[in-house]
Amino acid sequence: MRWTKSLITTLRDNPGDAEIDSHKLLVRAGLVRKTAGGLYSYLPLGMRTLEKIKRIVKEEMDRAGALEIVMPILQPAELWRTTGRWDTMGANMFKLRDRAEREAALGPTAEEEVTDLVKGVVGSYRQLPVTVYQIQWKFRDETRPRFGLMRSKEFLMKDAYSFDRDAEGADRSYRTMYAAYERIFARCGLKAVPVQADGGDMGDSMTHEFHVLADAGEDGIAWCEGCGYAANLEKAGRTPPPADDGPCPPFEEVATPGAKTIAQVAAFMGLAPELFVKSLVYSCDGKPVMVCVPGDRDVNEVKLKRFLGAKTVALADFGAVLRATGANAGFVGPVKPADPALRIVADSALRGAAGRITGANKDGFHLKNVDLARDTSIPAGGYADLATAAAGDACPNCGKPIAVKRGIEVGQVFKLGTKYTEAFKATYKNDKLEEKTMIMGCYGVGVSRTLQAVIEQSHDKDGIVWPASIAPYQACICLLDPSAPDAAKVADELEQALEARGVDTIIDDREERPGVKFKDADLIGFPVRVVVGSKGLANGGVEIKLRREDKSKTRIVPPSGAAETVAALIEAEMRG
Ligand code: ATP
Ligand code: MG
Repeated sequence: MRWTKSLITTLRDNPGDAEIDSHKLLVRAGLVRKTAGGLYSYLPLGMRTLEKIKRIVKEEMDRAGALEIVMPILQPAELWRTTGRWDTMGANMFKLRDRAEREAALGPTAEEEVTDLVKGVVGSYRQLPVTVYQIQWKFRDETRPRFGLMRSKEFLMKDAYSFDRDAEGADRSYRTMYAAYERIFARCGLKAVPVQADGGDMGDSMTHEFHVLADAGEDGIAWCEGCGYAANLEKAGRTPPPADDGPCPPFEEVATPGAKTIAQVAAFMGLAPELFVKSLVYSCDGKPVMVCVPGDRDVNEVKLKRFLGAKTVALADFGAVLRATGANAGFVGPVKPADPALRIVADSALRGAAGRITGANKDGFHLKNVDLARDTSIPAGGYADLATAAAGDACPNCGKPIAVKRGIEVGQVFKLGTKYTEAFKATYKNDKLEEKTMIMGCYGVGVSRTLQAVIEQSHDKDGIVWPASIAPYQACICLLDPSAPDAAKVADELEQALEARGVDTIIDDREERPGVKFKDADLIGFPVRVVVGSKGLANGGVEIKLRREDKSKTRIVPPSGAAETVAALIEAEMRG
């Protein structure tokens, strides 16, 4: 391929909305262009890499025995109503109507659609197990689309779904996909680690997310160097010992005018935040619930939802807070709220807590010397793991202190059980002709997010450093004198020789200064750069350099040996 024919436009300046390096580089290297917020067009370079990632995903799915299908993006509302998710998916789902007023959604995922499909196609145990997959655009009306392809409104996902006869089979399917995911990410040159996660809307059973550890990641990961435990903070368990506070005098009111946050009251009273009880009123399936955690902790809404068995959990609005407690947020606490029937739950670290400071349920006031057992109506069963884990907490597995890292979720594998197959009555006949419900799993890879995660993990100050497996082109021949016939001929022959060896190659044949070409080659990040120029040729050869190595490693090779050297370098890079 020739640069002058390839629609490559690199940019000097970072896009104004880009906060993280990979987003800046993605746009500057000319891989994508923003169409509107959260919507991107792929330019030829981006398309090439996307196609290479798709190819790897397909090869690994096929190797795992999964069968490729494709289902409509436009999904009728009835499918979603069958499981009740038409109403519970919330504002993230793009909903629309056709001319006959039939409701539909732009698929954010496809559990309903695939279950309905497989129900119609599979009837006998002989057809099971079966895993199907598609690589299809998905749509989510994200609250905050950002970071380029990382969180966009339209993105490419590989979604696979397994259907099994029984739990052991479902387990095998899960493990097969888990192993396929490890291979997919490794082949994309990506270090992605499996971490335990929460099942969310998909079901409550076992699930792992694959995360690329990076400061730009949106998820917190509890990480134990000791035993290898890794869990999303949404899920990471805490097992704090009960508070060992001695008895304290009766509680009394303290005026804390204007001091609302724990930090403000702690500073005002000259006490450590740990001595405070942070109390928040949530609306859980529409009912108010007060949640208490230690002052230096955050409420974990995922754990709260699970503990209460609630479908929806959100901070209560200010009117509801006032009605429940008698005060505004910042001054509420578990001692004698205005509504004596208010349900109060607390983090297990507060079991046995005494001598603590809480809001007084009266604006401008706090209480000191609160003994939660003595002064509140929190029942013994109201204590649970409700706070988010933090660095230094004991690992729930081995007890050593955990670290907290940031992660980008590039994939997730789920065991779904029979949640969807029951709703759709997706059954099969076993060998005794009895009707049985299929057991399901689902498995997603964010293909477009993976593309950007590779850049986030593999770049330097000059640009992207592509792994050879998914680089838009593996080799770039910087032709320094496009109008000099000798050099142009060497470049042409080298390109042909490389293509014949399976190395995809681009010749930078622009009439530009060498500096411009080198800068662009570094920005786009081709794994190998070959410099071909009349001067170099007169001195005996072409210059070959790996993108990830510095200049001192440049090899000078006679033109006749260049293809072999480049091909060997690429092969070594592919092996990792
Ligand atoms: P997140 O927690 O980041 O919102 P999710 O857990 O809701 O993602 P899944 O339903 O598990 O996403 O979708 C499978 C994969 O699709 C994710 O692992 C992720 O890589 C990718 N993905 C999800 N949402 C987006 C998005 N808005 N933009 C790009 N990729 C996405
Ligand atoms: Mg997920």
